[in-house]
Amino acid sequence: MSLRIEEYPSPNYDQRTRAIDLVVLHYTGMHDARTALKRLCDPAPLAGHYPGPWQNADTPADTPLGRASAHYVVDERGVIFRLVGEHLRAWHAGVSSWEGEGDVNSRSIGIEIVNGGHDFDLPEFPLAQVDAVIVLVRQILQRWELHPSRVVAHSDIAPGRKRDPGEKFPWKRLAQAGASIWPDASGIAASAEADIALLQRQLRAFGYGLDEAGAHGERTRVVLEAFQRRFRASRIDGAADAETRTLLAALTKSTR
Ligand SMILES: [Zn+2]
Repeated sequence: MSLRIEEYPSPNYDQRTRAIDLVVLHYTGMHDARTALKRLCDPAPLAGHYPGPWQNADTPADTPLGRASAHYVVDERGVIFRLVGEHLRAWHAGVSSWEGEGDVNSRSIGIEIVNGGHDFDLPEFPLAQVDAVIVLVRQILQRWELHPSRVVAHSDIAPGRKRDPGEKFPWKRLAQAGASIWPDASGIAASAEADIALLQRQLRAFGYGLDEAGAHGERTRVVLEAFQRRFRASRIDGAADAETRTLLAALTKSTR
């Protein structure tokens, strides 16, 4: 499958301070591709230009919004828009962290997948769109010599703050096509009881932002939710149940 890539330059970028070693997948979470492209190319976005469920109805129309962008936008037909060159830093990650580092934009390539997301009742991702994402991601992994484990969700790098690309996104299909990873739980037995310290070590080993200190309670639950949203979408409750523990143990084995 050859990709259809259209140049759609955004002024929202600056220089990287670090080598590329991550690919971050997002959903746009807006009404349509047009609105998302306009927002991601807007050098001075105002709240009034982007009305929608993502903002408070009584926010004044002239309220400035943060400038944002991504390297690529993939629409529902599978057409890809290139907004920012890969060698430049696009602004898609926001407040986030992975493997203990905060500036995720500097080290990542951001792909926005056109989809209304949670605010629009989680629409399905059309096949043509998923196929295009797979080919694009594989090309990026090849170009920068990255392992499929380097592909993460926005919800992975900003647990509790972001939920995209959401639990409808077909991560397993990506993994089967070599564009992500999927835990192989065969032959792995979960411990009879949840060992929270072990879980936290495994979550941290994968890359989740979970500090040693204060890692108990609410933060661990939020990070477990992010893990489930991606790898066990049938129940996202932040509980360390046996299936979650098994998948996490399997995942720890399958990275790199
Ligand atoms: Zn996002």
